[in-house]
Amino acid sequence: MFAPWLAPQLAELLRQRGHAWLLQGAGGLGQCDLGLALVMAWLCEQPVSAHNVPVSSDAQAVSAVPQSACGHCPSCHAVQVRTHADLKVLMPEAVALQLDWPVDEKAQKEIDDKKRKASQEIRVEALRGMIEFAQRSNARGRGKAVLIYPAERMNAVTANALLKTLEEPPGDTRFVLITEHPQQLLPTIRSRCLQYTLHWPSPAQALPWLEAQGLSSAHAAGALQAAGGRPQLALDMMQPEASGQLARWAAMPNALKNAQAAFFADWSVGALLDAQQKLCHDLMLKSVGSAPRYFEVSALPAPPGPLALSQWWADLAHSVRHKDHPFKPELYVEALVAAGHRRLLGSSAP
Ligand SMILES: [Zn+2]
Repeated sequence: MFAPWLAPQLAELLRQRGHAWLLQGAGGLGQCDLGLALVMAWLCEQPVSAHNVPVSSDAQAVSAVPQSACGHCPSCHAVQVRTHADLKVLMPEAVALQLDWPVDEKAQKEIDDKKRKASQEIRVEALRGMIEFAQRSNARGRGKAVLIYPAERMNAVTANALLKTLEEPPGDTRFVLITEHPQQLLPTIRSRCLQYTLHWPSPAQALPWLEAQGLSSAHAAGALQAAGGRPQLALDMMQPEASGQLARWAAMPNALKNAQAAFFADWSVGALLDAQQKLCHDLMLKSVGSAPRYFEVSALPAPPGPLALSQWWADLAHSVRHKDHPFKPELYVEALVAAGHRRLLGSSAP
């Protein structure tokens, strides 16, 4: 189901012509769904008007009405099953595997054979493949599309190779770049794209959508709050492996304050760092008398002093940057719980 807050944004994008879009905004607002819908509309063989009425053959009407994808032609189907010959998706291998996008056969074999880990960056080999793709003629007669996510995961070599392609775009290839961190992209890449910032949905838009995905209304409201108002993130948090943590979300601040290691035994390093950042953030708000964002105010312990909070914030930022380092995860979780406990008791030692 295409989220209701994305539909008007898609119509807005389709109304404009451009060979490269940069979709930016906080994670969990649905930018991947929006990017894919845009690509699908470009490639669709039987586009319909944004109001789901087949577009008339009258040329004027065609240019006046934004055309979105029909959802059932062979081209739409090929996008849905991720095998469209005229669509190239560039993602770091780790992201592609997580989102069920196919990875290049050779790369998949190397990862399966444990010769190397799935890449966290968009590899330059993948970008070279994209350049070849952009230069060959299209297979289905509706041009070609390249989707890049997360666009900031390109190193300098890869980004410069992309820049060259954006500067001299092959005739029938259009680009969608998606990022949560536009400031990490080369300014020259940003300036080659039409930039679009995603809108935040209101709870009135997000809650019915979460309920339509199978969440009870109480869970939907709790998850949306824990996700800071980002519905896709709220839904991800309610996936089976994460929902146990959400159920215990409200108990987390006190478990941390009391250093209950057993409470966190099944938490991943990433989930624990994320939860501690949200807790630290909410305690900063609470300490200045503002409403918390991620937790119910009743779930929050008394905030430690400003020095302890700012030192804790700095520690967490450092840990987030280094969380891929080889380290026994269960020991790391224990160390993070102990550190959070000390900060909550007011320690400001670095
Ligand atoms: Zn179609």
